[in-house]
Parts: sequence; C-alpha cells; structure tokens
Amino acid sequence: MLELKNANVYYGSAQALYDFSLAARVGEVVALIGRNGAGKSTAMKAMAGWLKCRGGALMMNGARIEHPTPEDVNRAGISLVPEDRQIFPTLTVAENLRMARVTHQPARWREREVYELFPRLGERQEASGAALSGGEQQMLAIGRALLCQPKVLLLDEPTEGLAPVVVNALVDAIRAIAAEGVAIVLVEQNVRIPEMLAQRFYVLDSGRVGWEGNRDEFIRQRDAVERLISI
Ligand code: ATP
Repeated sequence: MLELKNANVYYGSAQALYDFSLAARVGEVVALIGRNGAGKSTAMKAMAGWLKCRGGALMMNGARIEHPTPEDVNRAGISLVPEDRQIFPTLTVAENLRMARVTHQPARWREREVYELFPRLGERQEASGAALSGGEQQMLAIGRALLCQPKVLLLDEPTEGLAPVVVNALVDAIRAIAAEGVAIVLVEQNVRIPEMLAQRFYVLDSGRVGWEGNRDEFIRQRDAVERLISI
C-alpha cells in the first residue's frame, strides 16, 4: 500500500537519510527502530510529505504521489502522529476531535468510535488539551489522526515516557486499528513495543537501513538488531 523508495533527505547540506526504502501493507504493523538521531523521525516526515526528498518516490497503492505536500499525502490516506503530538492545548478533547472531523461518507472513524477505542478520552471530553496526561494526549493525537480516515497511520514514538498501564492501552488500540486494515508504521527506539506488535522490522543506523526482516528473522537475529540500536 505505502511505499517510499530510495529517498535521500537533507537538512541544509547535512544528509540525514540515505537511499531509504520502506513498505507497509494493508493491516500490517511495521516497526522502524533505531537509536537516538538515527533518522526515524526524518523518515516519518518524508513519508508524510513534511520533508522533501531528493530523488526517490512516494507511492500509495502503486500510484506515485508527485511532489508530495502534507495535504496531498493526507488526502492519499496517510496520517502522521508526530512525536510532539501537536494537539491544541487551549481546546478541550471534544473540540480537538471536532476540529479534525472530516466529511468523508461513510466514515469508519467518527468521534464515537474514537471514544470507544479510548474510553479514557470519553471521560475527559471537557478537559483542555493542556490538562491531559502524556498518555491522554497521545490517545487524542491518534484519535485526531483516525478522524482523517487513514489507510496508513505513522506513529512516532507513541509510548515514549508513558506508564506501563497506558502503554498497554495504546498497544491494544494499535492492534485494533491494524485489525481494521490500516497499515501502521511504528517508530520506537527499542524493540520492547515493536516486538509485541510488528510483523516486519526496519532498523535505521546513521540514516541507513542497517537491517530489515520479518518477525521470524527478527526473533532469530535479535542480537544483531540489539547491537545496531544499542548506544
Ligand atoms: P530521536 O529518537 O532522537 O527522535 P531520530 O532517529 O528520530 O531520533 P531524527 O530526528 O530523524 O532522528 O534525526 C536524524 C538526524 O538529523 C540527526 O543527526 C539530527 O541531528 C538531524 N536533524 C533532525 N532534525 C533536524 C533539523 N531540523 N535540522 C538539522 N538537523 C536535523
């Protein structure tokens, strides 16, 4: 479904991503792991059209998205939940969701489905974005992305810094979203969460894919993967 092929990304003259390729298929959870500064967020922003690639191609269902802008990419069904979540702190949970509401008909994800997926958000509907815990903010950010009816959801370190009980709720939710056929690209620094969820793994090392493989290969070669992501 989603394919980024041979992308090179620069910040000024500094290259952050080298010949990077990644694919994610219907209902698949793909993990993108790597140590701090490896280029994971850069790769996610490239797939979301937030950063320009030199060369390479961003494809959705076999069709190339020419000169992708964030709007084009979102329209093609790709939604990014960035590391900093980007919710509106002065608006309530309900208002944050209302602003993300789109007029797609039929819509798989409406506010009601978001509250079903994250009952905690339902209880916090009138709380302002700024008053939410980190876990609630992450749920809200994912909820906002779902209201765009994504076919591909890009999640940048969704569990970072969260308590284990919240992490478990997010893991369950990610599994449920994938079960609906949404492809998920999950960025994490370590393998703990990806190994619960992912069918395929990419390991970034200094801007290059240092290892990639499916779940069986990951289990067999776990030591090699751990070496690539250890500090
Ligand atoms: P983290 O786990 O810390 O989020 P990451 O794997 O997501 O790391 P990136 O944030 O993609 O890594 O950074 C990749 C490289 O690009 C790093 O060397 C970083 O310093 C550099 N970089 C990231 N953002 C910028 C920017 N806005 N301007 C210049 N260099 C940047």
